[in-house]
Amino acid sequence: MIDRETVDKILDAAEIVDVVSDFVSLRRRGSNYVGLCPFHNEKTPSFSVSPSRNFCHCFGCGKGGSPVNFIMEHEQLSYVEALRYLANKYHIDIEERELTDEQKAARTDRESMLALNEFACHYFEEQLHDTNDGVEIGLAYFRDRGFSDATIRKFHLGYSPERSTAFYQAAIKAGYNRKYLLEVGLCIDDKRDGGFDRFRGRVMFPVYNVAGKVIAFGGRTLKKDPAKYFNSPESLIYVKNRELYGLYQAKRAIVKEDKCFLVEGYTDVISMHQAGIENVVASSGTSLTQGQIAQIHRFTSNVTVLYDGDSAGIHASLRGIDMLLAEGLNIKVLLLPDGEDPDSFARKHNASQFTQFIAENESDFISFKMKILLDQSSGDPVKRAAAIGDVVKSIAVIPDAITRSVYAKQCSVQLDIAEDVLLKEINKYIKRNKDEQYKQRQREQARQQRLENDRQSSESQPSQQDEHEDSLPQSSGEIASTAGVNQFLYPHERIMAHYIAKFGFCFWGDTYFDNGEKRPTSLIENVYFELNADNMTFSIQRFARIFEEGLKLVDAFYEDLQKETERINDIARKKFDEATRQIDSATLTLREIEKKEGEIKNRIELESRNELSTWRQRYLEKRLCSHPDDELRATALELVSEKYQLSKIHTQFAVIPTEQERLSTLIPEALYNWKNAIVKCQIIDAQSRLAHAKGAEAAQILTKLQQLYETSRELAKLIGERVVNPK
Ligand code: ATP
Ligand code: MN
Repeated sequence: MIDRETVDKILDAAEIVDVVSDFVSLRRRGSNYVGLCPFHNEKTPSFSVSPSRNFCHCFGCGKGGSPVNFIMEHEQLSYVEALRYLANKYHIDIEERELTDEQKAARTDRESMLALNEFACHYFEEQLHDTNDGVEIGLAYFRDRGFSDATIRKFHLGYSPERSTAFYQAAIKAGYNRKYLLEVGLCIDDKRDGGFDRFRGRVMFPVYNVAGKVIAFGGRTLKKDPAKYFNSPESLIYVKNRELYGLYQAKRAIVKEDKCFLVEGYTDVISMHQAGIENVVASSGTSLTQGQIAQIHRFTSNVTVLYDGDSAGIHASLRGIDMLLAEGLNIKVLLLPDGEDPDSFARKHNASQFTQFIAENESDFISFKMKILLDQSSGDPVKRAAAIGDVVKSIAVIPDAITRSVYAKQCSVQLDIAEDVLLKEINKYIKRNKDEQYKQRQREQARQQRLENDRQSSESQPSQQDEHEDSLPQSSGEIASTAGVNQFLYPHERIMAHYIAKFGFCFWGDTYFDNGEKRPTSLIENVYFELNADNMTFSIQRFARIFEEGLKLVDAFYEDLQKETERINDIARKKFDEATRQIDSATLTLREIEKKEGEIKNRIELESRNELSTWRQRYLEKRLCSHPDDELRATALELVSEKYQLSKIHTQFAVIPTEQERLSTLIPEALYNWKNAIVKCQIIDAQSRLAHAKGAEAAQILTKLQQLYETSRELAKLIGERVVNPK
């Protein structure tokens, strides 16, 4: 466990822009930042990051949250793991206790596998640098290939000893579980409770995921072995088609250059790095997948594919490129001189020569494809027609219409075919693609609808409430048992939960308690008193939990408030001392000095007040949105997301008060509207019961209806006859 103090330290240190930037390329838009959502595939950015609220949110898929949420979601970590990640990023010490056996067992499979790979990576590195065989065989090989020691360290290259159980035994001795050794594929089951090393006698290339965890290895043989490379099998932590070799080491350079080079092999990546070109990743020999493209697209839209001078694979990979185009990426192609691959070329040239070569020889993908296909089909009209069709198909997948038309024009010139003929063909493909997409979307919508239905029906489970026949209005729990009533209450509960999640600990005013005591209270306490007085409660479980979690934090809040107030006052005192020292007392009269000091004091007090009120406002949102419970966190995120910010439409008129400033009217309004909805439900319920009731029962219902009408009238007066329906 991490103590609350450390957790707070981590939460305070973690800045959302900083945290997200490690994974997503962000652009400023007003006071926020936007980028392509890392959680779903998209071509236009709908992922918004708000530094002032320390919060991110995707308007496309709804994911996001605090820095902790983001890391949990993105790195697929548990809450505590995500905190550890951030603590590490911000150099905050967590006292790690020695794990007990039980705790060790409780660690997730994923954690264990990553820990094992980390161990293996160290082990192979140590073997390479600190053993005779490692140095003489492995290190000598790398040096022979021209890798510098710095490069070898940078990519954590290693050596796996020739002896077939060397690593297996080292890992078992270090306490690692055999099960995981087999699962991550470092060892192969020998069917006698032991294991062989998969990578024995090979030089090792650890594969990192984008967050810098070792998820797999590639091992290259140094002998005449037809299997040049062995790679880790897929596992819980290694999904091949999502990973790109070198992305972790390249991502910053990719963002900086706004461009990514795509090569084939491990050694191509490494040599290019050494030559000073760091924005490079490898697909590791396999053809590119959608998942890999998405990984690149998070950092840039510009990809240049490098082809070996004699690459037999060009033709095969042309098709894979259509996928890149369809994702809206700008694709360029660089053909290296005959007989060269990126690795050999990088070794012969320095960074500026390489860069110059790229600048002079890079060509856009469509022209490249046209040239290749036409060269191959020269003289054969049937092949030529097929080739043109192929090019047209590539143009048709480009999402941007302007880019498409530019290419169409260029093709028409290069191929000497009328532009409108080409356009007609292109449009035919577009229509076909659209039909396919439409069908897919419909399937997806149907699926979403089913999910929503499931959620609604689980939400309309009535909560168990005592019956309070004599007090009005009734608890909403009771009414919720009437079919369809939830629809009525849902928007009211939702907006109330929104206010609570977002402003729960904002200062509300002084409250007089029954014992005559008076003390300042927060919004959430007031809502609690109000609901209690009328015996009301949330009927929708998701919202009820938000309210309950908030109430649980009341005591902790006031303790923290005390500390925060002291801290801010301390700072204010220092600021005041600092500012008054600046006053040039030599040239001013005493009165002038006093006046200046007064101004300074007012200004600093105002700053302090604002700071404290911001702190109060963030308090609950921060805790709910980083709550360890998945469902609760998701609800909180949904509630605090900007979508429900009423003030949003007003932002162009700066004078209109924000939602927070209007709370004193919004809250009572929301409460009365909610109560009114409850009463209306009860009226409907009573009326329907009256229709079937006789005698004494009917009379009883009638009396109750009278009361309900009365309450409804009173509420209407309070609301001012306005019917305010929250959306
Ligand atoms: P080297 O220069 O040492 O031969 P390379 O990285 O240039 O290595 P390539 O032959 O260009 O290797 O292959 C590209 C990539 O394809 C490799 O980096 C590796 O990921 C993968 N690969 C190559 N050969 C195999 C193999 N036999 N089995 C599995 N993967 C392989
Ligand atoms: Mn090579």
